[in-house]
Amino acid sequence: MIRENLDSIETRIRMACERSGRDRSSVHLIAVTKTKPLEMLREAYDAGQRDFGENKVQEICRKKPELPDDLRWHMIGHLQRNKVRQLIGQTVLIHSVDSYRLAETISAEAVKAQIVMPVLIEVNAAKEDSKYGVMPENTEELVRAVSGLPGIHVEGLMTIAPYTDDPETNRPYFVLLRQLAVDIDNKCIDNVSMGKLSMGMTGDFEVAIEEGATHIRVGTGIFGERIYT
Ligand SMILES: *Cc1c(COP(=O)(O)O)cnc(C)c1O
Repeated sequence: MIRENLDSIETRIRMACERSGRDRSSVHLIAVTKTKPLEMLREAYDAGQRDFGENKVQEICRKKPELPDDLRWHMIGHLQRNKVRQLIGQTVLIHSVDSYRLAETISAEAVKAQIVMPVLIEVNAAKEDSKYGVMPENTEELVRAVSGLPGIHVEGLMTIAPYTDDPETNRPYFVLLRQLAVDIDNKCIDNVSMGKLSMGMTGDFEVAIEEGATHIRVGTGIFGERIYT
């Protein structure tokens, strides 16, 4: 079933790319595996999937040693500063930097590990009370502050759009994120690139691709509904 789901997501990605005149290779599919058992991750891996997303450090640390080395792990959830040390070296991209203090901690741990950690800045595009992320109007200021940290490289922006049955209602938030990235990119801040836009989930990834997403995060559409216990 996972292979079939991946195939059908792939077809929808290709169609969205075609509609918007984009190259398929400019969109990276991250399979979101939170709460899902290892067998399901193996099945996705065997079907060729390599980018996986988790929202908890513990879950990455538990699953990673059980799976092949060429999996790429993405940290997509809210990150607590006391979990950063464990995470460094386990993930290719942290999507969820939303404060200077968190960035400072990531940088310090990355420096200790002698790496530079690629990160995205999480933006609360719809200004929802329930969501993490920096407000759109404060994004450039945070990017500028974080850009001075030696252990971090800012590579773009991420947003979690509101839950909706109608993906069109999220289009303005995807447009906003892309525009923010373009505006910040035009400021040519040292040590900052804005090439990555992490936006779009099962319910709205096609619209996100049409608006420039480079990383879409799809869970339910590949693995089915999550059961929280
Ligand atoms: C769970 C989650 C997703 C995947 O959501 P689906 O609707 O299951 O595709 C994407 N991004 C983040 C940050 C998540 O926590």
